[in-house]
Amino acid sequence: MIKAKRQTCQQCAKPLSTCYCHLLEKKANAWPVCLIQHLNESSHAKGTARIAQLSLKNLRTIQLGDREPFTPPENDSDFWCNPVLIYPNSENRDIAELVGTSPRPLVVLDGTWRKSKAMLLSSPYLQSLPKYSFETERPSRYRIRKASSPDFLSTLESIVAILETLEGTGNDYAQMLEVMDWMVTTQLGFINSTNP
Ligand SMILES: [Zn+2]
Repeated sequence: MIKAKRQTCQQCAKPLSTCYCHLLEKKANAWPVCLIQHLNESSHAKGTARIAQLSLKNLRTIQLGDREPFTPPENDSDFWCNPVLIYPNSENRDIAELVGTSPRPLVVLDGTWRKSKAMLLSSPYLQSLPKYSFETERPSRYRIRKASSPDFLSTLESIVAILETLEGTGNDYAQMLEVMDWMVTTQLGFINSTNP
């Protein structure tokens, strides 16, 4: 049997039947975000991190190869001014301490916990950054977290939680989570209907 080639959306990389682009809202985040992804995990481009990439105007993504230590790009020094690393760990300071201060670039490691740790350990630059943790209270997302890969979801949910903490009511980022809910629900429905 020859499989028909699925048509995919060029923007969100989803099959047209589950494309979520009509739900996206662009937000001008005051605190810039840099997502650092491991190349081997480039499927993240199709996960929920993609929603952040398509929703936030002030976001850039850097992809790292295997054992490639991260260093900030030399041609982008304006962005890399006084960044902080988001790294959930009880020993790190709480991101809430930065509320009310001037926006700084937020470096977010997008990968499994193990990959994120490896990216941190391989980069003296990342290790030198001030590290901040955060707390979030979104119990209603638990169902969805269980339904899909926690790694994808934690990246998007982390970014939303951090921006909401830092920017208060300046921007409404809830739509990013709405898109995530819709994407997961649509995918689950699709899987259930094709694999009864
Ligand atoms: Zn799309």
